[in-house]
Amino acid sequence: TYVVTDACIKCKYTDCVEVCPVDCFYEGETMLVINPSECIDCGVCEPECPAEAILPDTEGGLEKWLELNTKYSAEW
Ligand code: SF4
Repeated sequence: TYVVTDACIKCKYTDCVEVCPVDCFYEGETMLVINPSECIDCGVCEPECPAEAILPDTEGGLEKWLELNTKYSAEW
């Protein structure tokens, strides 16, 4: 899955939301998040993010962000 990280905080350009084929972006408290169970790993959103906040969780070290994306997207 792809995850949204802290570079998104207070950005909210939503370019990513527009390109996602499965609409798996949700609004967290201060940033957007991706629902990991809905993300199909297409990677389309990554280059669209002006803040470079979206990363594949295969990068490592993103556990905290994955958790946060899971938490906030589950509230909807
Ligand atoms: Fe949506 Fe694809 Fe980005 Fe996953 S990788 S959030 S499916 S655009």
